[in-house]
Order: sequence, then C-alpha cells, then structure tokens
Amino acid sequence: MSAPLLGAKVALVGWGVSHQALGRHLRGQGCTLIVYDQRPRTALDPAAASLLDELSAGYVGGAGYLDQVSGADTIFLTPGLPQHLPQAQSWRRAGISIRGEAEYAVSLLGARAVGITGSSGKSTTTTLTAHLLRAGGVPAVAAGNLGTPLIDVVESATKGTVVCELSSFQLALFDQPIALAAILNVRPNHLDVHLTFAAYRQAKLNLARHQRPDQVLLLPAEDRDLWQAAARFGGQKVAIGDAAANEGAFVKDGQFVVRLAGKEQAIAPVREWRLEGAHNQQNALFALYLAMARGADPTRLSLALATFQGLPHRLETVAEVDGVRFVNDSIATTPDRTVAALAAIEGPVWLLAGGYDKHLDYAPLAEAKRPRGVFCYGATGPKVAEVFSAAGVDTWVGADLAWAFSQATLRANFGDTVLLSPASASYDQYSDFKERGQAFVGLVKHYADAR
Ligand code: ADP
Repeated sequence: MSAPLLGAKVALVGWGVSHQALGRHLRGQGCTLIVYDQRPRTALDPAAASLLDELSAGYVGGAGYLDQVSGADTIFLTPGLPQHLPQAQSWRRAGISIRGEAEYAVSLLGARAVGITGSSGKSTTTTLTAHLLRAGGVPAVAAGNLGTPLIDVVESATKGTVVCELSSFQLALFDQPIALAAILNVRPNHLDVHLTFAAYRQAKLNLARHQRPDQVLLLPAEDRDLWQAAARFGGQKVAIGDAAANEGAFVKDGQFVVRLAGKEQAIAPVREWRLEGAHNQQNALFALYLAMARGADPTRLSLALATFQGLPHRLETVAEVDGVRFVNDSIATTPDRTVAALAAIEGPVWLLAGGYDKHLDYAPLAEAKRPRGVFCYGATGPKVAEVFSAAGVDTWVGADLAWAFSQATLRANFGDTVLLSPASASYDQYSDFKERGQAFVGLVKHYADAR
C-alpha cells in the first residue's frame, strides 16, 4: 500500500465524476488543485462549478486548455483522454508524474483491492463477486467504472474487500501490483480512442504487468494469445473454464466447480443460475473463484448465485406480451456482445440493432446464431444490415428505435423474442446506453398498455 499524495501541486485534467471525487480527497490531503477541462467554466453544471470554489481550485477551460497545463508536480488524466496526447509526452519529459484516479486509489487500497477488467462482463462479474463475498461472510463493496469512484471507497469503506471494475481507459495509466485480478476476455472495442487492438489489449494487460509472483491473475482458459501475452508477467495464472487445469473454476456434470489450492468443490447446479447464456456462466465462474480465493464460505454461495438478478440493460426481460418476450440488452455496444446475446436466447429472435459508429468491424455478426430478422437503424444501421443480409438473414433499415420496435411487433409471434442488442454505442441518438434502454422499456410499456 502506498502513501497518499500530501500537499502536492496537482493538475486535474478533466472535471468529471471521478476527478471531482479525487479533488475532494486531494484537498483533504492539503493539495493545491488546478482543474483543466475542454468546457469553459460557464458550461459546467452548477454542482461541478461550485465544487471548484469549495475546494479553492483554479480552473482553466475551453479550447487549448491542454496547452495551458503548468506548475503542477502531479497531473491526473481523466480516463479516456487519449494516451498519445503530444502534451503528455512533454509533461513526462519535464519529470512530472502522470497518474490516474483508479491507479492511485488501488495503490491506497493495497491488499484490499480485487481488480476486474475485460471487454464484456465487467459490471456483471464485479457486482456478482461483491454479492458472493458478502453472502459468503466477507465484507465487500463493488466500485470503479460501474459507478462509485474508487477514491470514494478508499475513504468510506475502511475495511473489507473492494471489488474494482477497471476499464481499459482506467488501465491505460495503471502501474500497480494487485494481489488478485481477472481479465475476463479481450475483444476489439474503443478503437476510436486506443487506435489499435494491440494498444487496447496492452492497456488491459497493465493489470497483469506489475504483479509479483505471489499475486494471482485469472484468465479465460480458451484465449491462448492472451495467456501467452500475460505469461511474461510475474503473477500466478489461473484458468477459468478448463476442467483439466490444476487450479481454477469450470462447469462439470451440470455443476459450477471451483478447484482452489488443490481442493475441488462443487458449488451449485448450473440450472439454479438465472442469467442466460454461456457468457454469463463464464462470468459466474470468474466471480466464484475470486470470492472463494478471498475466503467466502462455499456452503453459502449456492443460494447467493440463485438469488442474483443481474443488472438492468443486460439481457433484461422487460415484459412478455401475448407470448412475445421483450429483452433489453442496450449495453451491447459491440458486435461480440450481440453475438453473445443471440447465442443466449432460445427460439426465434427479432433483433433491433444499430447506433453510434465506433469504427468496429461488424463481420463477427455473420457468425452469430441467426436471428429471424433484423431491424437496423442509426448511424451503423446500414453496416449491420449489410453483414446480416450477406449471411442470408432478412433485414430492414429505418430511422430509429421506435420504427424498429413497431416493425418487430408486427412480425413477432407467440414464443418469439424481440431483442434490443444494438452492437453499437448509443451516442448518435441517446445520451448513453441507459437512456436507450429506458426508451425501449417505454416502448414496451406503451405497447403492452395498448393491447
Ligand atoms: P461491461 O461492464 O464489461 O460493459 P456488463 O456486465 O455490463 O459488461 O455486460 C455488458 C454486455 O456484454 C451485456 O450485453 C452482456 O450480455 C454482454 N456480456 C457479458 N459478459 C460477456 C462475456 N463474457 N462475453 C461476451 N459478452 C458478454
């Protein structure tokens, strides 16, 4: 565990939720703060603006703000600010320490931190791990990328495990040894910021890079490339999803099984786990191993698994109307998530897909379990339609989600599922995936009421 920054001159680049929490913490440590952000001060929301006064923080905003950063001995970069910023190189050359909120918080948490990253499944696995730990008698909270900034938990949760969801953006600056961590999977995402898949994967591997030999990293058994890349780093590697491995977690004879320190234990029948899809079984295996490695009582985990409801906007059944099921998977912002969703649902599926263009490759959709038909909309709608129609699936292209929804309801029969799983981000038509999911829920309610 390393020491907090005391009395430093700190520049906070970006004034979002995590930096506002960090600002409070650093001010409490006697640091002097200057905040830099692309928004002029007048464009800040009132709470963000008044916090600046409360913290006696300076503020530089608007065009060219990055060129004005000066006088700091430590600079915190907001997650997502591209790492290849020319300014960052010159700050480094000037000997200024460049840090990130997540990496700093994990350094303060020390052995209490459990880190989880991956392209998909982070929030589900992070929430489930904390749930299993608590049910298994170990105090724990979930924090990080899914909601509460990690720095807030450092101060409030004075004991217990902190299960940290870490995004590739947060990991871009990560240089901490971490006692127990997991990389759930790595597939192309956020290439608009990381530029290449290799750079994106390197960021994820930062979770492994600084581990010592007594520390542990969980990896998906089937991703040999990832294993090879991680093998260069110090920590012990544990395979998830391979019944032949000496150590790990896997499904055998219809049971979730954990093999920990040479001892094998069947935890619960898979049929008691409610979340659909092979991918969610894999998430459960990661969470079970992490919870047991942290000392959760295995006899209490069966009930805890059976009572876990999953999170909203993730393969969430919204309603069943006249025998048609409506499923909200708005968080499916990449093609591989939509592939996972299609594989998870039994019976004919009418897919609603399309959205903001992150320059992802939609070709993987051709390998998906075939939907009955696809209604495509938004900026990526035509690209999604092209892949599905080349694979022989009926597709239609229209303007927006309301159009796609109404078309699907005209065609769906008893026993079918209407699935919102857009394979794209939402920013072309919504502020985020939650707003898009809520719009879908609203359409379903309206439709159900009108029946
Ligand atoms: P994240 O926090 O990484 O965004 P979530 O747990 O919120 O992940 O799940 C996001 C989406 O990814 C959902 O559509 C979910 O069904 C899908 N998903 C979850 N786990 C996996 C996985 N292991 N592989 C592929 N897709 C997954």
